[in-house]
Amino acid sequence: MKVLVINCGSSSLKYQLFDIADENVLAKGLVERIGSDASQLTHQPKGKGKYVRETAIGEHQAAIKMVMDLLTDAQYGVLTDIREIEAVGHRVAHGGNVFSRSALIDDEVKQGIRKLAELAPLHNPPNLLGIEAAEKILPGVPQVAVFDTAFHQTIEPEAYMYSLPYELYEKYAIRKYGFHGTSHKFVAQRAAELMGKELSQIKVITCHLGNGASVTAIDGGVSKDTSMGFTPLEGLTMGTRCGDLDPAIVPFLMEKEGLDTTGISTLLNKKSGVLGLSGVSSDFRDIEQAASRGNERAQLAIDVFVHDVKKYIGAYAAILNGIDALVFTAGLGENSPEVRDAVCIDMDYLGIGLDKEKNGIRGKEMEVSAADSTVRVFVIPTNEELMIARDTKRLGLDT
Ligand code: AMP
Repeated sequence: MKVLVINCGSSSLKYQLFDIADENVLAKGLVERIGSDASQLTHQPKGKGKYVRETAIGEHQAAIKMVMDLLTDAQYGVLTDIREIEAVGHRVAHGGNVFSRSALIDDEVKQGIRKLAELAPLHNPPNLLGIEAAEKILPGVPQVAVFDTAFHQTIEPEAYMYSLPYELYEKYAIRKYGFHGTSHKFVAQRAAELMGKELSQIKVITCHLGNGASVTAIDGGVSKDTSMGFTPLEGLTMGTRCGDLDPAIVPFLMEKEGLDTTGISTLLNKKSGVLGLSGVSSDFRDIEQAASRGNERAQLAIDVFVHDVKKYIGAYAAILNGIDALVFTAGLGENSPEVRDAVCIDMDYLGIGLDKEKNGIRGKEMEVSAADSTVRVFVIPTNEELMIARDTKRLGLDT
């Protein structure tokens, strides 16, 4: 039972082919710089050598066709016929307040995704391109949309409303939506499994700390609050995004720096965060290295990031009235013992204590809490693709 998972960005396409019966990944890969003369396709079939090709790939449909050809290639393929693919799952960025769960794609769902492009102009249109391209190449095969925002649709109005004139909410649907939902849900579920409990029985704070970063408060499997908002710019300091700011800074900077809306948006999304603070890089590996060599701005960037994560954990522990588990995931959450340590230090008031030795691990699933920690602390590698494949099977094949 083969399920293909596709994640289409404006100029990229990531894919994973699962045998969903045993959740094995048969092949995965990435097409970068779609639309340029120097597109690159990297394909890794299970148990075989890696295939890398640089060529011009004009648009998403051509990229998907190349992926299909590779999946059935004599040397690098893992299928004999693309018709072995029984369902396709698509990551879709924004489901607005229309989609509170994954959806089997039909014309109405596509129309919904198209309408929501207003809220996610950089993401929903390429997601739709991927859906339409896959439909053309695999006609009649069920396609499922899995939304980054869906998990957070349980958040109550007091947490999702901004204190703006209510009419603006009615007019433009301005509210908190939250993102990384598939990841937060996956690691919360896994934490419950590791604790031998039902997710419905536990309260968890999940920290997805990657280039984009967010923290979520989850009670009984239900998202109660999350740090990203109307867009993925709100919340924690990130790789290049500023996170929470006094909104008055925006008109102030526009005036002082002579910036238009595109200029200020680029500044806040692409030039801020730990890149802007450190002046070194958006990549924490570079920043940690620079800080260890005495670069004070690099250390400042780490300190601001850690402070933000700590602050959200404290706030969400208050919202949840205490927690049973704290989970770290994504590039930094999985791979930086230093950041986990700095976040968890002096959290004994919450019952959080780390085992220094266990916390030394990188990129592996592990409980890292100390024996006397009343809150269980886990490092859990996220797997959004598997989550999408599971939903695709459930909606596309089991019903
Ligand atoms: P993601 O967006 O989940 O791919 O995460 C990317 C972030 O994780 C980048 O800032 C990386 O520097 C960081 N990261 C990945 N591996 C490591 C590592 N070994 N140590 C520190 N940071 C890492």
